[in-house]
Amino acid sequence: MSAAFRALLLEKNNDVFSVSLRDLTDTDLSQQAADGDVVVRIAHSTINYKDGLAIANKSPVVRKWPMVPGIDGAGVVESSTHAGFKPGDAVVLNGFGVGETHWGCLAGKARLKGDWLVPLPAKLSTRHAMAIGTAGYTAMLCVMALESQGVKPDGGEVLVTGAAGGVGSVAIALLSGLGYTVVASTGRAEEAPYLKQLGATDVIDRATLSAPGKPLQKERWAGVVDAVGSHTLANACAQTRYRGAVAACGLAQGMDFPSSVAPFILRGVRLIGVDSVMCPRSDRLIAWERLARELDLAKLDAMTTEIGLQDAIAWAPKILAGQVRGRLVVDVAA
Ligand code: NDP
Repeated sequence: MSAAFRALLLEKNNDVFSVSLRDLTDTDLSQQAADGDVVVRIAHSTINYKDGLAIANKSPVVRKWPMVPGIDGAGVVESSTHAGFKPGDAVVLNGFGVGETHWGCLAGKARLKGDWLVPLPAKLSTRHAMAIGTAGYTAMLCVMALESQGVKPDGGEVLVTGAAGGVGSVAIALLSGLGYTVVASTGRAEEAPYLKQLGATDVIDRATLSAPGKPLQKERWAGVVDAVGSHTLANACAQTRYRGAVAACGLAQGMDFPSSVAPFILRGVRLIGVDSVMCPRSDRLIAWERLARELDLAKLDAMTTEIGLQDAIAWAPKILAGQVRGRLVVDVAA
């Protein structure tokens, strides 16, 4: 008999979208995720911005129906035909189209490709790994991008936009832990004490960055981690110092980039794109090893709210509305 497990299921019937909590079976997994060679018992998952889009049916994240959402998962291998993993191994999954084109991790089990998995770092629990999630792992990729361009802790202020969100919160904690001077940009002035607790030395109103601005502005930032895009990214580039670097990973304000080439050709500013979804395994392993070693777990706990599987449905629109502070962890058994 095929064992049952709980999962969120997104369906589209006659163009009508629905989301529900369901009991699924190993047979469902074998049929719907047949190309997976490792079955993982998921302990924790999370709600990232992209999960919010999928669960609230707000943008075409899901490209196959029905779909189990959840772009991130952490748990223990139940069975495997992949040479790299055996039953009992603790693993983490981020991205690779999981929760978009391949059944995801907001479920008690997922059938995944071993090539997508990284070992859970020994220092981290599954809960901590999912408190980090794609948002936190992307924040680390952004830090690595700035470092690769020579941005150093003693080089001047680093701006983090979308600061009270998931990417922003982890980026602040990581950068301040490494000794950078971090300035947090937020639309939530009431979160200034939280942002300072994470390590920001200064907090600015995101309205100072979100309106159309001049192509070149007063130079301030040695580096930028931008989770927001649109005019915010354009203004951040226009305020970046000579030969500074901007890591762009998000679009919370918009997908557009209404900028000019001026910062790049007159100040040698480097704009680095950061993608977590298809990021090569070698970089993932470095990012997760560094997250385990460098991220202050007390700060991670301070930015984390834990919810149950069913709660994910109600929280999805809240992350899209910018109402989630830090990170949401989903205990899939709750
Ligand atoms: P969150 O919703 O947790 O954080 C986004 C933050 O952006 C909000 O908390 C808010 O911060 C700010 N924000 C929201 N709306 C606006 C707006 N209209 N104008 C300016 N700022 C706004 O999302 P995540 O941190 O999980 O993700 C952030 C972005 O990064 C998303 O666009 C996501 O899709 C993208 N992303 C990209 C990845 C990649 O691989 N490239 C991976 C992970 C995420 P505050 O209240 O402090 O102003």
